Amino acid sequence: MGLPENIETRLFINGEFVESSNGKTFDITNPATLKLVAKVHEASEEDTDNAVAAAKAAFPAWSALSPDQRGQYFKKLAKLIRENNDELAALEASSMGRPIGAYFDAYMSASKWDHYAEAGYSVQGKTLDLCVQTPGYLNMTLRQPYGVVAGIIPWNVPLLFLANKLAPALIVGNTVVLKSSEKAPLTSAKVATLVKQAGFPPGVINIITGFGNVSGSILSHHMDVRALSFTGSGRTGRIIQAAAAKSNLKQVYLELGGKSPAIIFDDADIEKAVKETANSIQWNSGQVCMANSRVYVQDTIADKYIELFKQNFENEVKMGDPLEARENGVNHGPQADEAQHKTVLQYLESGKQSGGELITGGGAPSDRKGYYIQPTIFKNTPEDAKIMKEEVFGPVVNINVFNSEEEVMAKANNTEYGLYASVYTKNIDRAVRFAKGLEAGTVGVNCTSPVTGPDMPFGGYKSSGSGREGEPLYSLDNFLETKSSLGRV
Ligand code: NAD
Repeated sequence: MGLPENIETRLFINGEFVESSNGKTFDITNPATLKLVAKVHEASEEDTDNAVAAAKAAFPAWSALSPDQRGQYFKKLAKLIRENNDELAALEASSMGRPIGAYFDAYMSASKWDHYAEAGYSVQGKTLDLCVQTPGYLNMTLRQPYGVVAGIIPWNVPLLFLANKLAPALIVGNTVVLKSSEKAPLTSAKVATLVKQAGFPPGVINIITGFGNVSGSILSHHMDVRALSFTGSGRTGRIIQAAAAKSNLKQVYLELGGKSPAIIFDDADIEKAVKETANSIQWNSGQVCMANSRVYVQDTIADKYIELFKQNFENEVKMGDPLEARENGVNHGPQADEAQHKTVLQYLESGKQSGGELITGGGAPSDRKGYYIQPTIFKNTPEDAKIMKEEVFGPVVNINVFNSEEEVMAKANNTEYGLYASVYTKNIDRAVRFAKGLEAGTVGVNCTSPVTGPDMPFGGYKSSGSGREGEPLYSLDNFLETKSSLGRV
């Protein structure tokens, strides 16, 4: 499959595509072939300000529409995203290396837009006419949009995050500025062309490309941005939280990293558990916030489980050019870029020094020039090793052996992260104990990531973030103020 001929690389501000005001562009290089894919316009301070100003100007008219009127635009956009699936898949494959066969983001993203199209009428305030402290008054609460909302997204599953940021904010009447990731900006720019085609009024959705410094930082400090929803690393999340504290105390919602445990008891369906836990850490080359990077297997089945896991990595994983995935079954692409590749290689070296046993993989394949990493298993890595504590964001799993429930619950929760956790067992009492006891925003019972219910809220415990997204009941609240209005009757 080839690349589309005219790749959009400009900024989408106030309904128009514009070049960077200072003429700066940055390169997108295909991580599989190391060839230049596109030169993308980098938003300057002026461009970012213009995008916020456009969103601010569009707010009064957009917020005055009914949820149904706003939802009609969402439905048109969802249809266009589905129709452009192949082009979006090719753009993602050539910028961050996702095999096109493993691309379902357009489908997920379109479903989110459709889902939120219907969600606006679920927003409700309440009336109180029996308030003892204010007799003779009719008291009510109003739910109102903030105004301008910003979204900042990472590169690993961009279109899903774009929908998760934009759709809930927009359906309740906010207008938005989205900054895509400098590592994978092409699909967001393509969506901007579809936003225009769907007929959204100018300024309602602005999509800019650029780096943390300048555009990300400008948005985080901007006095006219009233709420900011971020997905990315904990390091950047902390910087954004601090920027909000230093500027206008905007509401900040954070979806951050993970070091997710999967626990396999000896009564589990072992073949199913191997297949799913191996896929969790190998899908998207391990570049998934909720990937089960720590697996705990009960001692009675440990040898068999690890042998099957090794066979899965050695026999089922097919590396190759992500763009050729449909023709030749490639299911394992490169890491997103050189920096990501280097980081993973450093973690592999630290894993080898940590005292854990290397079972398979352990480096870059010698027969490929792209940023590939061999799927890697370490066994019994010490709990305090760097590779057990920190997010690697690569196809690297630590499988440690445990003996008792108490021991494994304590080890699984011994992390600052709390995004996703899984337990595989046929014992219903134990399943409930672990569903309750694991400290994570999502717990899978006999399933693991990347499975998440499309109608379930997603977010992190502890340092994995704040707020929930993906499901209207929880996420609409992120983008609404509550006003108490007291009326004398
Ligand atoms: P990152 O934090 O480096 O970058 C994310 C975004 O923040 C990018 O758009 C980047 O340009 C921007 N940014 C960088 N510095 C900034 C600054 N100073 N101010 C404002 N914006 C700034 O993360 P990444 O490498 O793109 O993504 C990987 C991380 O994202 C991993 O930690 C992963 O676990 C996490 N992630 C979390 C979820 C989730 O839902 N919890 C989902 C996907 C990825």
